[in-house]
Amino acid sequence: MIPFNKPFLTGKETQYIEEAVQSGKISGNGIFTQKCQHFFEDQYKFGKVLLTTSCTDALEMAAILANIEAGDEVIIPSYTFVSTALAFVRQGAKIIFADSYNDNPNIDADQIESLITLKTKAIVVVHYAGIACDMEKIMHIAERHQLIVIEDAAQAIDSFYTFSDGTKKALGSIGHLGAFSFHETKNIISGEGGMLTINDEQYIDRAEVIWEKGTNRSQFFRGEINKYGWVDTGSSFLPSEIISAFLWAQLENLKKIQQKRLQIWNQYYKNLKDVSFVQLPHIPEYATNNAHMFYLIFENIEQRSKMIKYLKDNNVLSVFHYLSLHKSDYYTDKHDGRSLQNSDNFENTLLRLPLYYDLSEPEINKVVSLIKNFFK
Ligand SMILES: *Cc1c(COP(=O)(O)O)cnc(C)c1O
Repeated sequence: MIPFNKPFLTGKETQYIEEAVQSGKISGNGIFTQKCQHFFEDQYKFGKVLLTTSCTDALEMAAILANIEAGDEVIIPSYTFVSTALAFVRQGAKIIFADSYNDNPNIDADQIESLITLKTKAIVVVHYAGIACDMEKIMHIAERHQLIVIEDAAQAIDSFYTFSDGTKKALGSIGHLGAFSFHETKNIISGEGGMLTINDEQYIDRAEVIWEKGTNRSQFFRGEINKYGWVDTGSSFLPSEIISAFLWAQLENLKKIQQKRLQIWNQYYKNLKDVSFVQLPHIPEYATNNAHMFYLIFENIEQRSKMIKYLKDNNVLSVFHYLSLHKSDYYTDKHDGRSLQNSDNFENTLLRLPLYYDLSEPEINKVVSLIKNFFK
């Protein structure tokens, strides 16, 4: 059986976990946590990084930092994972769902302005499959309307956006805040895990407090104050050193992991680009590809279901992805009723193929031939 995903281990994870355990400091914000945070800050020029226990947590921190309150509106694509919206709903926000482009699941930047009202506080973008949204356009809109931009970069590690003046910036470093995931289905993993990136420095001090249960403990540990206490809202968002130690082993191999994933992605692309009946991922000029995902777009749901079954009968697991959030059980009666055609279309027609570090060339060729045979 070729599974859809298989977590990749570098071999050093348990050694670093053992080091963390032996060091006697296994709670959060120790040596491994700080090593990981500095690595990301140096490598991708994020303003400040705080590791979290998930991307969902990082998004919750972002919603608190953005001061989202009951009645505020937040613009979010409908074609995304639950957490993108949930983190803001928990603060009382009304979600104004936006549609995707027709050839790309990302939020259609040209629609955003028409969704803005006096109650709008934030725009949350999702870089689907690690492919950038049109950040230059989105940041301009946000600036004009004084909105906060939060990047759900859960899938977007090591991916970039190029501005019209040629400046290239890492995804997660462009919006005021960004959220990443290290869930075992992502490129770089720690089982569960995530990080918040803070690019607008006005949020840094408060982010540290929210991270540490509403206390100024981080400042205390740095010797900046002589006692610590409860100063704000927050939660326990920081991971233990055991998680960070695991993540460090992955970060040492980030280049190698990315190269291998890109190689697999390119092999799929090269071999499938001439197949009629399916559309391959569209990568805009301004975006790079981090090989998080390889997907196909079918003409309709029947064809996709038949393909899933055909691959499964031949021992290959492929999976569809999001159900439009505006039609979910939880949100359908809260949604304003607009139809979001492109999101619904991706719900019905997008199919993800196996993509993981250990996927071998013969296995990729098997998947490719099955897809070609299916259409014969
Ligand atoms: C994986 C994912 C999340 C959730 O990440 P967790 O670390 O599991 O909380 C959120 N948004 C998107 C777009 C994702 O792909």
